[in-house]
Amino acid sequence: MTYIIHSIPIRLRNKLPFYSNLKSYKFFTTLILTAIFFITPSVSPATTIRVLINVIKTNQPKTLSLQCREKITLTDCDADKIISKSCEISLPSTKIICTHLQAATENNTPITFKDQHYAGSLHIHFDKKNSCYLVVNHLDLDDYLYAILPNELYQSWPIEMHKIQAVASRSYVLACARDARKKKQLYDVRSSNHSQVYRGTHEHKHLWAAIDQTRGMVLTHEGKPILAMFDACCGGICPALIERPEIADKPYLNRMRTCHFCANYNLYSWQKTFKFSAIEKALNHFAPTQKFIADIGKLQSICAEHIDQAGVVHTIKLTGSKGTRSMPEKDFFEIVRHKIKSHTYTVQRNGAELNFSGSGFGHHLGLCQRGARELVKRGWKTKSILAFYYPHTKMARMDTNAK
Ligand SMILES: [Zn+2]
Repeated sequence: MTYIIHSIPIRLRNKLPFYSNLKSYKFFTTLILTAIFFITPSVSPATTIRVLINVIKTNQPKTLSLQCREKITLTDCDADKIISKSCEISLPSTKIICTHLQAATENNTPITFKDQHYAGSLHIHFDKKNSCYLVVNHLDLDDYLYAILPNELYQSWPIEMHKIQAVASRSYVLACARDARKKKQLYDVRSSNHSQVYRGTHEHKHLWAAIDQTRGMVLTHEGKPILAMFDACCGGICPALIERPEIADKPYLNRMRTCHFCANYNLYSWQKTFKFSAIEKALNHFAPTQKFIADIGKLQSICAEHIDQAGVVHTIKLTGSKGTRSMPEKDFFEIVRHKIKSHTYTVQRNGAELNFSGSGFGHHLGLCQRGARELVKRGWKTKSILAFYYPHTKMARMDTNAK
């Protein structure tokens, strides 16, 4: 079956009384829910998480294919409904009438989209500002947390470790949701590692124990869920010494105590060698550098220029036969990111080679997963481990009256 979004309101414009009643009902429900949202803005046990799972540019007509074991109810922005078991949704490229389409099932049966299975509902929004469609999965907080666990940790790791991750991830996503809703964004988090890696449902049922045993538990600072960042291995770096102005107001990410519990992990410290000519070639073809790379002549050396007290590199110096230039490390990192594991390294040319020597895997903030795993082995409890990695926080249970 094929549905054209902009044809739905036209085809069903002559509404039945059911739809009018439904719209009135939806209006008052929305009014009440909005009032509740402003009274209890951030911490609610019934929180629905909105995950951006796909972005579709409008320069070409696209077809979205949805499948489900049960019937999918498609609802357009006028609350008109079409019910089908599987459907093709054609997204028009030019004339947009409908700006929001929702696909859901009665029993929370996963809907398949692009070979992934999603609990909850799928919402397709037209983003006028960026001229694209956003496919956003709305789902229950617990379903979301269960879904991300095997993407962020090995599913075979001890359940204690998954409990730690569940509390951190719950706090993180609630902090993101609070921020996104203040800004009136159409989604709370992305499905990539920009947020937490989310690929829909999975079959590792034993991980429900981690969700069940930590249900409602969040880390808070000043009564609000914290942005509980985490990485694979901190490499022994002291987070409080990292120059990151955007976390200056988050004391729980400015830990003074260093973690060396991850020291046995092979990426605690690492070396990587590149061919100097390969990096030179990449710089010549990379948009942020190709404008100036010709001006400095034949490239002779690459070194870390500004390194903060923690060891994180912020700028890189390129020296050529005709001069030198600085570039932001985050741009340089784009060239080497698939082989370099963190922004904390030294770099040196040795003849035809460029040698990196670095620490850790990730951004070094918050929970160090390898370190936490070692602490679990040593018998530390969930609360003590989280208190170590997130100082200045309190463990709380989600409460509808929390502010
Ligand atoms: Zn560590």
